[in-house]
Amino acid sequence: MIANLKLLLIAIELLFVTFSYAQKPVLVIHGGAGNISKSHIPDSLAVKYKAKLSEALRAGYAVLERGGTSLEAVRTAINIMENSPLFNAGKGAVFTNKGTNEMDASIMDGATLNAGAVAGVMHIKNPINAAIEVMLHSPHVLLSGEGAETFARAQGLEMVDASYFYTEKRYRQLKKAQERESETQGYISPWLNDFKFGTVGAVALDKQGNIVAGTSTGGMTNKRFGRIGDSPIIGAGTYANNNTCGVSATGHGEYFIRSVAAHDISALMEYKGLSLREAADEVINKKLKEMGGSGGVIGLDKNGNITMTFNTNGMFRGYIKQKGDPQVFIFK
Ligand code: ASP
Repeated sequence: MIANLKLLLIAIELLFVTFSYAQKPVLVIHGGAGNISKSHIPDSLAVKYKAKLSEALRAGYAVLERGGTSLEAVRTAINIMENSPLFNAGKGAVFTNKGTNEMDASIMDGATLNAGAVAGVMHIKNPINAAIEVMLHSPHVLLSGEGAETFARAQGLEMVDASYFYTEKRYRQLKKAQERESETQGYISPWLNDFKFGTVGAVALDKQGNIVAGTSTGGMTNKRFGRIGDSPIIGAGTYANNNTCGVSATGHGEYFIRSVAAHDISALMEYKGLSLREAADEVINKKLKEMGGSGGVIGLDKNGNITMTFNTNGMFRGYIKQKGDPQVFIFK
């Protein structure tokens, strides 16, 4: 009898310890940064963006709440944004100069420092899922083009005809960019052509305390020559480390690659003891800005503190720390 009582007490204590030490889950997402002002986004459109961001946050958070992994939460949130024509990823991907849609994505697991990425893929419905497959089921980190697609097909991912990615809005953006280019008779940086983006990203912290970060994009309108941005580059567009933080970036990719932005934020925390917010501010508002780079990041640290830092006039973004309570924002 006494032994049973003791066992019961131990069980209650264990339950209490487990409960009190379980990490409170957090999810933070972005849907691109850039010249996003009220004149570009009428109220009716802002409502649509906010609804989609909230849907992605709710669905991703539901995964975390029921004890799912940060990897599954990131996949869930990103898939919802990839399947929406609102964002420059998956269904809403921008067009290249050739009139194709060539997408990049990456994922990193902060517990293992394992990572996966794909670049320049044209037939994978959800490129983030391919990045996850690369991480989990290949000895590699970054696969590109046809090879990446062959791998994705073999892993059983959903493949689509290239026409799936056609949206009239993005096609018009390409035509406009090309008109501008012919007026100036020169090759204009895709960034200058279309200073607003829609790359998507998510960073999650699960109940086990594990951080995962992911990013998915169509890149930049009118990009050429097989251009690859920062989104599939681990350390530039995406980074995660349970000891520091998880980060997903959006903006003028060339600058994020050159400044190794996502990893730099983690390194500033690790080596200099900065908080996530201080580190993100240093990289986005100082280093990147001085180089001439525009964009932003979302991130969270191991304690669930978040950042949504950008040096543009807007970033589609949001976070959720509590069931049913997504917080979403667009403008500064
Ligand atoms: N960073 C992406 C790229 O350069 C673009 C974006 O964030 O919208 O490809």
